[in-house]
Amino acid sequence: MSIRQRLQGVGMTSRRTRERMVARLREQGIADARVLDAMAEIPRHVFVDEALESRAYEDTALPIGHNQTISQPYIVARMTELLLESGPKSRVLEIGSGCGYQTAILAKLVGQLYSVERIAPLMKKARDTLWELDIKTVGFKHADGGWGWPEHAPFDGILAAAAPATIPEALLDQLAVGGVLVIPVGSDGTQSLHRIVRTESGFEDEVFERVIFVPFLSGVSQ
Ligand code: SAH
Repeated sequence: MSIRQRLQGVGMTSRRTRERMVARLREQGIADARVLDAMAEIPRHVFVDEALESRAYEDTALPIGHNQTISQPYIVARMTELLLESGPKSRVLEIGSGCGYQTAILAKLVGQLYSVERIAPLMKKARDTLWELDIKTVGFKHADGGWGWPEHAPFDGILAAAAPATIPEALLDQLAVGGVLVIPVGSDGTQSLHRIVRTESGFEDEVFERVIFVPFLSGVSQ
C-alpha cells in the first residue's frame, strides 16, 4: 500500500486514535500544547512497517529494521518539550533520523531542521516518508552525527536519539550561546536524559528521567 493510501487511516490508524495517544501523553505530564498538536497531526503509523501499523499509537518503541527502533511517543514528546521550553528554535540539528518520526514532529515546530543518520537506508526512507507527508524543508545527511554538521552550525537546538557514553565534543562546540542540547547519556541499562544549555561562560547540565535508547555509534553503515 502506498503512503498516500495509508494516510487515509481508519480504525487503529485514524486521527481519533492519535487523539487518544495525545490524551495519554497529557496524563503522563506532557503539557506543551504545540508538541501535543504536532503529535495529533503527524500520522505515526506510516513510519512503521504495515504489519506493525495497528500498534503505532501504543506507547511503545517498535522495530524499524537494521536493529533500530522508533522511539516511544512519550519520549519523542518529552524530548521535544525539553528542547522547546526556553523558547522557539530557528536552527536545529537532529542526530539519528531513524524512521523520521521525531524529525517530522520537529519539522512542524522549529525553523530550519537538519537531520543526520549513520545508516544509509534508514536516512533515505525517512527522507522519502517526509516528502510524502509534504515536509520538504528538512536537510538530511548520511553521516556519523558525532561530528555534528559543522557547515550549518551554530545551532540553537540539538536533539540526539541515540545514547553516547559521553557527549561528543563536536555537539557542544556547535551549540550557539543560549542553545539547548537534549541527549540521552550513559551506557546500556543506565542512561538518563540530559539537557545541556550553553551559557556565555560554559555549559549547564540538567538531568531528567532514566531512559533506554539504542547506542550512539561511530562511523557509518551503507
Ligand atoms: N527518533 C528516531 C530514533 C531512531 S533510533 C525514530 O523515532 O525513528 C536512533 C537512531 O540513531 C538509529 O537510526 C541509529 O542508526 C542512529 N544513530 C546512532 N548513532 C548515530 C550517529 N553517531 N550518527 C547518526 N545517527 C546515529
